Amino acid sequence: MLNIENLSACYGYIEALKDVTIEAKQGQIVSIIGSNGAGKTTLLRCISGQLKPVCGKIKFLGELLPAQPHKVVQRGVVHVPEGRRVFSGLTVEDNLLVGGYLLKEKELHENLKRNYELFPILKERKNQFAGTLSGGEQQMLAIARGLMSNPKLILLDEPSLGLAPIIVNQVYDLIKQIRENGVTVLLVEQNARKALNICDKAYVIENGRIKLSGTGCELLNSEEVKKAYLGG
Ligand code: ATP
Repeated sequence: MLNIENLSACYGYIEALKDVTIEAKQGQIVSIIGSNGAGKTTLLRCISGQLKPVCGKIKFLGELLPAQPHKVVQRGVVHVPEGRRVFSGLTVEDNLLVGGYLLKEKELHENLKRNYELFPILKERKNQFAGTLSGGEQQMLAIARGLMSNPKLILLDEPSLGLAPIIVNQVYDLIKQIRENGVTVLLVEQNARKALNICDKAYVIENGRIKLSGTGCELLNSEEVKKAYLGG
């Protein structure tokens, strides 16, 4: 579904991604793990058209993805950014409606209804300003806002960051549910253990390069991964 070949990206003189090749098949959860500054967010920004790569190809369903965010969304790829970035001065419902801004009225309301079924807490809080939600609720809202446009592929950047363990479990249950609903997931995480436990395939990124890849189970059992990312 997603094929990235030999991708490199820079910020000025900083080469943040070097010759990155990864793939995600339809219906998979694919994780990218790596430490701070490894290049995970940069990879997602290239896919969603926010950063133009220096070289390489990003193909989605066999065709190149344009480097324009709104066109990438139209093609069925959404990016849920790190730090949630909900619109704190808008209500929960208005945040969701923003997520569906490309849709026609009827589909917009169908999606809103479906999202409220998937996230009952957001229905309860639909008239509340997003800034008054807890961290976990804001993460749910950020994911729900991404799902509003009916994506085929969702890019999740550090969905567990800053959340209590019990809330992290809820977010991860939701990620499984999203996959069961037919959406492919590319999951970027520093929480390597969680990400490797849930995914079908994973890549380890270090200093902008893919260092290792394998199934979640293979990487959980890799001595290198255990030492560097799972606390020995
Ligand atoms: P984190 O989990 O801390 O966000 P990351 O793996 O997502 O880490 P990136 O944010 O992709 O890493 O950063 C990769 C490299 O690019 C780092 O060296 C970072 O300092 C640099 N970088 C990221 N954004 C910018 C920017 N806007 N301008 C200049 N350098 C940047």
